[in-house]
Amino acid sequence: MSMKQYEFWFVVGSQFLYGPEVLQTVAQRAQEMADWMNASGKLPCKVVYKVTAKTQREIADVVRAANYEPACAGVITWCHTFSPSKMWINGFVDLQKPYCHLATQYNREIPNEEIDMDFMNLNQAAHGDREHGFIAARLRMPRKVIAGYWQDEGVLRRLGDWMRAAVGVAFSKGLKVMRFGDNMREVAVTEGDKVEVQAKLGWQVNTWPVGKLVETMDAVTEAEIDALMDEYRKAYDFATDDLETVRYQAREEIAMKKMLDAEGCMAFSNTFQDLYGMKQLPGLASQHLMAQGYGYGGEGDWKVAAMTAILKAMSEGQTGGTAFMEDYTYHLVPGQEYSLGAHMLEVCPSVAAQRPRIEVHPLGIGDREDPARLVFEGHAGKAIVVSLIDMGGRLRLICQDIECVKPIMDMPNLPVARVMWRAMPDLTTGLECWITAGGAHHTVLSYDVTAEQMRDWARMMDIEFVHIGKDTTVEGLEHDLFLSDIAWKLK
Ligand code: MN
Repeated sequence: MSMKQYEFWFVVGSQFLYGPEVLQTVAQRAQEMADWMNASGKLPCKVVYKVTAKTQREIADVVRAANYEPACAGVITWCHTFSPSKMWINGFVDLQKPYCHLATQYNREIPNEEIDMDFMNLNQAAHGDREHGFIAARLRMPRKVIAGYWQDEGVLRRLGDWMRAAVGVAFSKGLKVMRFGDNMREVAVTEGDKVEVQAKLGWQVNTWPVGKLVETMDAVTEAEIDALMDEYRKAYDFATDDLETVRYQAREEIAMKKMLDAEGCMAFSNTFQDLYGMKQLPGLASQHLMAQGYGYGGEGDWKVAAMTAILKAMSEGQTGGTAFMEDYTYHLVPGQEYSLGAHMLEVCPSVAAQRPRIEVHPLGIGDREDPARLVFEGHAGKAIVVSLIDMGGRLRLICQDIECVKPIMDMPNLPVARVMWRAMPDLTTGLECWITAGGAHHTVLSYDVTAEQMRDWARMMDIEFVHIGKDTTVEGLEHDLFLSDIAWKLK
């Protein structure tokens, strides 16, 4: 499902105490608010007003319907009036969809002349939303609280960001990952408990033989390759005359896409240690698949493959770009401290600052023929890098704020795509924090998704979240990780 097909159900709390006229006004206004927010064009998905809830039965019914409706990616509640919260308990304990409490108010201003006790009874969100907040706190519900006027740009932006994170939850729960070959020999951080991951995050992570991929590649026709070559020409510059090598990547891409689509997989991993029967490590092929929304992880890293797909789904329609990334090397000159990120081949061209070039160069690793790949620079701008690690008994999501820059040197002999950035709070402190938290060398780099969205996603998924930002210190982080470790063992 695409972003626009998802809906969020707006459920407004009230009670019978105020009489039918007030309830009718509340219902009309709730509908008006949903319509206005949809018409604003500021939200990525539709808000659907469902009910002004006055009874335990109404709430339990709407929760049950939300749980069973695949198009419903979350529930938004608000209390126009007071809504006694004990009637929300039975519904809330059964809620299986992401939940946001929008603490807002129909009117922006207190109307000086008009305000009387009738007005107060109708417009008491300040009061109603506190009772409503208590029960979610009491029930330890994972939730997002957004406070502010419903027409304000900042409120709509935050609500929209949360919607995208909730769509990331729906996407994650249906995600299938195709593994070509196993994890790179002896590597630890790319390992993980696939049963635990499926229980927590929903991913079906399974393996398909490389031999089956080679069979599928052999069945690809020249006409299919011609058509994909035309697509390559539209999107990329050819900086090679070796068209046979590029055509081989097209053959690989077509075969991988056929297998992914046949199984409904939106992410895949492969490894240079298992290319049996293949002439080239897929480079351009994997890059162009990522540009179409598929997640990818190198060296058998299925966790980063899945996370790449999820962040791409969360940022659908946005233009900053999201890519599989790897921390490679540093520039440690005082005042110019930067990380250089790249991969052997496979960085997604969605992050490119200019039109990517298709180049063919030798690859020292993997013992195969020279592969074609896309070469480009990543663009400047604020971004995040994200790593999911298996701590044994639980998953930890680490997110670091970064500032990407135009690479400060040309690096004319580097034959791969590259992104240069300054990690927060600064390169060395950020690095100490990242290593202390156990973050991987593989990450998802995104210019579109924010740390707040990843925090929302982790909360909805009930996994640990670690954020390294401009105010993070190593001492503070160590303390947080120590407490977090105890808390998650007790959970
Ligand atoms: Mn790698």
